[in-house]
Amino acid sequence: MLPYKNGTVRVTSTYGNRIRNGKTEFHKGIDLVGSQKQIAAIADGVVAASAILDKASDTSRTWEWGNYIRIDTADGHRMFYCHLSARYVQKGAVVHAGDVIGLEGSTGLSTGSHLHFEVRNSLGQSLDPTAFLGIDNRLQSVDAASSYYGKLVCDRCGLEEATRRYLDQYKYAPDLWRKLWNAMQ
Ligand SMILES: [Zn+2]
Repeated sequence: MLPYKNGTVRVTSTYGNRIRNGKTEFHKGIDLVGSQKQIAAIADGVVAASAILDKASDTSRTWEWGNYIRIDTADGHRMFYCHLSARYVQKGAVVHAGDVIGLEGSTGLSTGSHLHFEVRNSLGQSLDPTAFLGIDNRLQSVDAASSYYGKLVCDRCGLEEATRRYLDQYKYAPDLWRKLWNAMQ
């Protein structure tokens, strides 16, 4: 599931090594730009942080994230949604996958509206976020509704992730998933 429910989502920077300003750096998250700006949680969890930190007072460099929300899942993952223009949930709130939690923006160290999405384990080590998003780690455009309704349908029916990805190549897949999910309600 992507952190957007509708529209088209472009992957503008992948997870892992990248070259920025002539230097190689490890990009600990993935950058996404949505045609629709509403950001949705990709998993159930509890809001562990919903804040904006200023550069002067922050020693952990998280000021670079601007307005960010951290959601901790029951299985010990920490999910960070960064550079938001608005936050709709406060620390301590319980959220469910698909809940709208904020708006994509360009706060913190950012040159244009995008979502920096990052996943860490309980030790704070970054993990490949694409495994949680159900997409390949490459530059591409993804239909958010297909990702959202496709996951709901597959979870309900016990279909494998690989099956969803295979069917997603079909151009009518977003419409198919939406209709299937509505028929199941
Ligand atoms: Zn990023």
